Amino acid sequence: MNKRLPLSPPSRHWILLYWIFFALFFLPLILSHQIGLCLGLFIFSGVLFFIPTLLPNDSLFGPIITRFSTKEKAVWLTFDDGPDPQDTPRILDLLDYYQAKATFFVIGAKAKEHPHLIQEILRRGHSIGNHTHSHPVSTFWIALPHQLRRELSLCQQTITQIAPLATPTLFRAPVGMINFFLHPILSEQKLTLVGWSARGFDTVADSPKKVVQRIWEKVSPGAIILLHEGITPTQNGERMAPQILERLLQKLSQEHYQCLLPNKPKKSSSNHGYHGSHGFSTSSESSENE
Ligand SMILES: [Zn+2]
Repeated sequence: MNKRLPLSPPSRHWILLYWIFFALFFLPLILSHQIGLCLGLFIFSGVLFFIPTLLPNDSLFGPIITRFSTKEKAVWLTFDDGPDPQDTPRILDLLDYYQAKATFFVIGAKAKEHPHLIQEILRRGHSIGNHTHSHPVSTFWIALPHQLRRELSLCQQTITQIAPLATPTLFRAPVGMINFFLHPILSEQKLTLVGWSARGFDTVADSPKKVVQRIWEKVSPGAIILLHEGITPTQNGERMAPQILERLLQKLSQEHYQCLLPNKPKKSSSNHGYHGSHGFSTSSESSENE
């Protein structure tokens, strides 16, 4: 596939800024033969250029949803890295018990292995998002356009084959890292990038209580909560994800929070905004970010 990559407006602005920076700083140096200083500045600017790729929820390269607008006490639960044959069924039962809805950002290769879990997630009224085909954590930030396109499209194809009416419209990047080429490819595949506003670092924590405490510090109406499936079990061999979810749902229920799926985004007149009664808002519009 040698499709030409259309650049989204944020990417175009970023490239323009880069060239202005280049012209202002490098050309006079080159002309005055200060090659050492020029090389140092070139390396420094390169580092600056890649910093946004390593910052979760950074909107410099394009819009990312980190909250949704709501007048009610409501949050959006999201699960990454599934489906998981041990965690997903227990998570689904807990969500049913507390009448909560969630979005599962699934890995395409795992979805292919467990198609019945994808069907079950949808049958119980939840939604599915794209979380790449192979979850390339260490290389996603630096992947080339053809590699990104393959990761996103293979996951889209897998989910569409399993559930033809549930082709994802939402995407979450592995570990939230943003790649410079990502937004044009998201546009091509009609995907909207979703980040989060509350997380408890559940993949590295050893205590469900601590995870829920960390999440709770960021919970407010419109928060997007990041959780994971398939987390390494505790030393006793207990599954972490269902324990964290049960504690969190208990706390949300005590505080009269609903867990709902925000409305499908409708493009507003601005480049970045999505609105609705429970509509999305992007990081550039949100006051709280992580
Ligand atoms: Zn992930």
